[in-house]
Amino acid sequence: MSSVRLQSVSKRFGDHRAVNDFTLEVAQGEFLVLLGPSGCGKTTTLRMIAGFVEPSAGRILFGNRDVTDLPPYYRNTGLVFQGYALFPHLSVFENVAFGLRMRKLDRPVIERRTQEALRLVRLDAHAERMPRQLSGGQQQRVALARALVIEPEILLLDEPLSNLDAKLREEVRVEIRQLQRRLGLTTVMVTHDQEEALSVADRLVVMSNGEIQQIGTQRELYNAPANQFVASFIGRTNFFAGVISAPHRFKTESGLEIAIPSSAAGGQLLAIRPERVRLGNANGAANSFAGTIEFISYLGATTEYVVRLASGDAIAVEMHNARPDDSVPLAIGSEIQIAWDTDACQLIA
Ligand code: ATP
Repeated sequence: MSSVRLQSVSKRFGDHRAVNDFTLEVAQGEFLVLLGPSGCGKTTTLRMIAGFVEPSAGRILFGNRDVTDLPPYYRNTGLVFQGYALFPHLSVFENVAFGLRMRKLDRPVIERRTQEALRLVRLDAHAERMPRQLSGGQQQRVALARALVIEPEILLLDEPLSNLDAKLREEVRVEIRQLQRRLGLTTVMVTHDQEEALSVADRLVVMSNGEIQQIGTQRELYNAPANQFVASFIGRTNFFAGVISAPHRFKTESGLEIAIPSSAAGGQLLAIRPERVRLGNANGAANSFAGTIEFISYLGATTEYVVRLASGDAIAVEMHNARPDDSVPLAIGSEIQIAWDTDACQLIA
């Protein structure tokens, strides 16, 4: 296994900057996820690491080896794409063995390593089946076995779960994560699905328009987003535009005076997560406002509300439903008090 380093890597397609000046490191054995909306340059970045796309500038290193000018075949990366891309006319065994036959390994070695890879993804009993005789999840596991069988230095996953239904996605992503940990595989995965990214990553790279917005763990991105894009892309946030009007005070453009932590500085945008806002009794909270419930959405574990304040601001509130009747008494149109503590306030640049 190797680490992966991108040093000032850029890719232009004509005038279009698909990837702009990326510098990042994936530690040996780390699971890094590239997360961002469609078109932000995730796949292009992954394909540059694999060697299918040549960077316009910058260097790519595996460990201390500069692979920038190496063709894909010599980089020894295992790739899993969105569509499983299995050969329909080859058995499961032959699909997995394919990469080893291409490398002209001895027959007994091919036999042993293919069986091992199939055992890893728990498909050894299905070795003789054809791809069409497998479920979507099983086919994706064959694709994974095919990537692993070559004993790759780096595992690269491009939206590997997006063809699967919701329940299967969850199952396969847990399997991929467990396998990745057990084998200590340095892994880079691309997804636009926030929940998927948060559930598997050691660290995430949030991208937008070919630019890295922030690199960090789930907690870092959620609790200290670098900018508005990250704050709104990772979880949901209430934003208020305004200025710091006095020490510990933020005045919104709509006229609300909000108490903020003494450590807060700079920034003209105040962010408050919906789960940090309470409905009902202020309980001594520094911030408390009267409002009217405008919208209620019961989601089982939580209930989401939209509360309209006299200032005109609409605030999203998320309440955890600890007991089945927790969310019963409130109705649309109810007059209600909402409250939050100063430490729920994040100032964003
Ligand atoms: P998605 O989630 O939709 O796959 P992505 O984040 O993976 O998106 P990329 O596929 O990396 O995005 O594309 C980044 C940008 O570069 C897009 O605007 C895309 O249209 C452009 N692009 C990608 N490949 C090429 C190419 N071969 N020629 C020209 N433009 C390209």
